[in-house]
Amino acid sequence: MPETSVKIEHRYLELPDSFYSRVKPTPLKDGRVVCFNAPLAEDMGFRAEKPEDWAGVGSGAELLEGMDPVAMKYTGHQFGVYNPELGDGRGLLLWETLGPDGRRWDWHLKGAGMTPYSRFGDGRAVLRSTIREYLCSEAMAGLGIPTTRALFMVSAKDPVRRESIETAATLLRVTQSHIRFGHFEFAARHQGEEALRALLEHVINLHFPHLAELPEQERYRRWYEETVERTARLIADWQAVGFCHGVMNSDNMSIIGETFDYGPYAFLDDFDAGYICNHTDQGGRYAYNRQPNIGFVNCQYLANSLLPVMEEDDVRRGLRCYETAYNQRFLGNMRRKLGLTRETDDDLTLIMDTFSMLHEHHIDYTLFFRGLSNLHSQGNAPVRNLFVDRSVADAWLERYQSRLQQEEIVGDERERQMRATNPKYILRNYLAQQVILEARNGDYQPMERLLEVLKRPFDEQPGNEAFAAPPPDWGKHLNISCSS
Ligand code: AMP
Ligand code: MG
Repeated sequence: MPETSVKIEHRYLELPDSFYSRVKPTPLKDGRVVCFNAPLAEDMGFRAEKPEDWAGVGSGAELLEGMDPVAMKYTGHQFGVYNPELGDGRGLLLWETLGPDGRRWDWHLKGAGMTPYSRFGDGRAVLRSTIREYLCSEAMAGLGIPTTRALFMVSAKDPVRRESIETAATLLRVTQSHIRFGHFEFAARHQGEEALRALLEHVINLHFPHLAELPEQERYRRWYEETVERTARLIADWQAVGFCHGVMNSDNMSIIGETFDYGPYAFLDDFDAGYICNHTDQGGRYAYNRQPNIGFVNCQYLANSLLPVMEEDDVRRGLRCYETAYNQRFLGNMRRKLGLTRETDDDLTLIMDTFSMLHEHHIDYTLFFRGLSNLHSQGNAPVRNLFVDRSVADAWLERYQSRLQQEEIVGDERERQMRATNPKYILRNYLAQQVILEARNGDYQPMERLLEVLKRPFDEQPGNEAFAAPPPDWGKHLNISCSS
C-alpha cells in the first residue's frame, strides 16, 4: 500500500531494547474507518482514494510489510509524583515513514490493546475520546499550533468499560516524534548514562539535525535550550487561544514541542483565569493560568534527567531560557491579538488589565478578540454586547481606541491582520459533544463538517456562523474526565 515515494524506516528500534517491547496489536471486531484525513495522507505520500483499505491496520488485525509494532517505555511525573511504571499502555508505534518532502512520520496506533505497560488498563480507547483527540489535533493544526496529527480513526463494536459501557475505537496518530520528556526520565533514572546518551543523540540526529555537528557539550546545551524554548513558546500559544491541556504530566510533554496526548482538554468559552478543564484535577494543578509555570516545572524534570551528561551550569542556563522565551512569545501573541504593531511600555499593563476585565465580567474569550478584529467594519456592538455592564466595555474601548492612535497600520489593514490571529472558530466543548452524540448513532457527517470548519478557523465562512456561537446552557459546564 505505501507509495514508491515513501521510505519505510524504524529508527526507534535503534535505541537500546530497554526503550520498547515488541507487541502485536489485539484486533478489534468489525472495525471500520470512519474518518480519514486525505490531505494529510497525501502530504505523507499515501494515496487516499480508498480509506476502507486501512480498516485492517486500524483495527489491529493486519500489519503491512515493514511494520514492526512496539510499545515505547517511558516514565514520568504525574501530578507532581514520579511514576516509574509508565509506557505505551494502549498504543503501538507501528513504523516510521519518510514522505516525498523528506519529513519523518511516526505511526502510532492508539487503542491497540494491552502491552507490558498497561498496568490496570485494558489497552483500549473509547470512541468518545478518540473523536476528541482527532478533532483537537486537527483544530490545533488549523490554528497553526504545533501538534500531533490524526491520520484516520476506526470505530468498532467491542464494548469497553468506563463509567458506563462504551465502544472501542482506534486513532492512527502521526507526528515527527512520539518521544516524551518521560523517555529521558526513564533513561536517566533506570538505564544509566549510556542509554541516556543514545536517546539524546537519537533525538538530535533525527529532529535537531542542525545541531548534530557541534562539539558534544555545545550540542547538548544548544539542544536543551531549544527544547526549553519550544516548550515555552508552545504554552504561550496555548494561552493566546485559550487552550487548556488538562493533563500536563511530563509523560505527555513532547520532546519536539508539540501539543501531545489530548485528554480532558478544553478551549475557554467565558474567560476564567483559573479554569480547570479536568474534573479529576481537584487541586487545579493544570488550571489555565498555571500552564506556563507547569511547562517550566516539566522542563526542570527534563533538566534533572540531563545532569548525568551535561554540566550543571549549562542545564541551569538552559532552564533560564524558559521565562525569556515564554514572555517574549506571549507578549508578541497578545500584541498581535490586539492589533498593536508598535511597542510601547504600557502594552503589558493594557494586556493584563484586559485579562482582569475578561475574567471579572465572564466575557467569551474568542468572541471578544474576534469582535475587536472587526471594530472598523462592524462597530462596537459585537464587543459591547458581550458585557452585562456596557459601561465597562465603553471605558475599555475608549482606552483601547486611544492606544490605537499610536499605530501606523490602521483600519481595515490592521483588522485584516487581527483576523488572521484571532480565530472565529474554535473547538468548543459543546461542539465536540454534539458530534460525539451523532457519531454514536453512526453518523459521522457532523464530525466531517466540523473538521472542515476548524481547518480554516480565521476565515469568515458564511453559512457556518452557528459553529462560532458560544455554548448553549447545556454545553457550558460539561464534565470532562481523564477516563478515555
Ligand atoms: P495519560 O495520562 O492518559 O496520557 O495516560 C497515562 C498512562 O496510562 C500512559 O502510560 C497510558 O499509556 C496509560 N493508559 C491510559 N489509558 C489506558 C488504558 N485504557 N489501558 C492501558 N493503559 C492506559
Ligand atoms: Mg499520555
